[in-house]
Amino acid sequence: MGSQEVSTVDWQGKHVTVAGLGVSGIPAARALHERGALVTVVNDGDDERARAQAAELEALGITVRLGDGATLPPSTELIVTAPGWQPDKPLFLAAAEAGVDIWGDVELAWRLRGDNGKKAAPWLAVTGTNGKTTTVRMLASILEAAGLRTAAVGNIGVSLLDAVLGDQEYDVLAVELSSYQLHWAPSLRAHSAAVLNLAPDHLDWHGSMEAYAADKGRVYEGNTVACVYNAADPATENLVREADVEEGCRAIGFTLGAPGPSQLGVVDGILVDRAFVKNRQKQAQELAEVSDVNPPAPHNIANALAAAALARAFGVEPAAVRDGLRNFRPDAHRIEHVADIDGVAYVDDSKATNTHATEASLAAYDSIVWIAGGLAKGATFDELVTGAAKRLRGVVLMGADRALIHEALTRHAPEVPVVDLDRTDTGAMSEAVEHAARLARPGDTVLLAPACASMDMFTNYNKRGEAFADAVRARAETSA
Ligand code: ADP
Repeated sequence: MGSQEVSTVDWQGKHVTVAGLGVSGIPAARALHERGALVTVVNDGDDERARAQAAELEALGITVRLGDGATLPPSTELIVTAPGWQPDKPLFLAAAEAGVDIWGDVELAWRLRGDNGKKAAPWLAVTGTNGKTTTVRMLASILEAAGLRTAAVGNIGVSLLDAVLGDQEYDVLAVELSSYQLHWAPSLRAHSAAVLNLAPDHLDWHGSMEAYAADKGRVYEGNTVACVYNAADPATENLVREADVEEGCRAIGFTLGAPGPSQLGVVDGILVDRAFVKNRQKQAQELAEVSDVNPPAPHNIANALAAAALARAFGVEPAAVRDGLRNFRPDAHRIEHVADIDGVAYVDDSKATNTHATEASLAAYDSIVWIAGGLAKGATFDELVTGAAKRLRGVVLMGADRALIHEALTRHAPEVPVVDLDRTDTGAMSEAVEHAARLARPGDTVLLAPACASMDMFTNYNKRGEAFADAVRARAETSA
């Protein structure tokens, strides 16, 4: 089957088990039920919220089993799972034994696209350890600037199922895919896709780095026009090499240096395209200026190049790339400039929840007072600290696993002053900002880039970033 054709499944009377009530489970159950499938939803939890959701589905005639997500309902022919469910769950082991297919929400959306009579829009897909959300939103902004009907969807707050089944028609979708979603999406075939970078993350879920990389690599399977890789990260290029793509699909690299043929890159402060031009051996096309990228930190320029590559693969003109990048505003808590106080910049990168993201963030500034700590999720910090040591004016640590960062600093940057707050309560953030302000000199950046998850101290990274911004603003008021 050609990769962009729509496949049809006869759902009538098919026994489908939906694993997990929730953002993807509920619309999946409804969509399948509407198509005549006999749906059973299984869910581990059995709390008040789950009961209310179950009651709504049961009123439609859908069976819901609360408090037991482990047992496979006997006549199951297909499982549709929430992406976060771990592959070694007993339910999935039982399914494998019984020869039952398992699809995630993305696979289901892929299979259902176009079956409501709407045009089946092609997907431009983005995955990677860090930068997915930013890149997908940049891409959507570029596609919009080109006058295309599009949306940023997937692992980004707007479910693919809603985008595919809703009334709105799209010309193309900018799709963010997590490694979990890719794991459960065996037949997905994007028009073009990018893997931004690969660093160890979520290894507890995938089991190994190889398994994690293999799941990310699925995004390239069956691409028709371009597989976009990061020339600075050979692991991403390897995934392109291993992928089975459609005839004529090209490998397109992006680099922060001067691009070779079939690459996008940077020359004298200009983002240039040497891939989607007539004579790529000799010519390059100017797309935008580095200063059009917001913020123009190195890793973010890489994100912009990846977004531009996907847009160009879809036929978007250079001027729309420039306009889309100019119109783009980053999401909150991603290298967000909060305030300047006494010549010191305060930047919130609470979204830097792993060492790879924090490395990029620390690389964007020359002299930094670094606020870090939280839940390490099994990470080590030696490489991160070694790479940043020269640029650290000082460090303020808090959170459950701060000792791991402190030990790495003692080993690799013993001269850098460290304030260890020995606190895991929410109020620690304002004390951290006080200490950071004391350590900073004019021209420095106080950077919240925790390299850790936030849940030991905050509900999520948003709350952590807000606590930082509140503390900075309070300080700005008193110093004004
Ligand atoms: P994701 O959706 O993959 O989590 P985001 O765009 O939300 O990515 O960015 C998450 C964090 O990762 C940012 O706060 C930033 O510190 C870092 N980051 C963004 N882009 C990159 C990149 N290309 N390489 C490394 N780190 C990055």
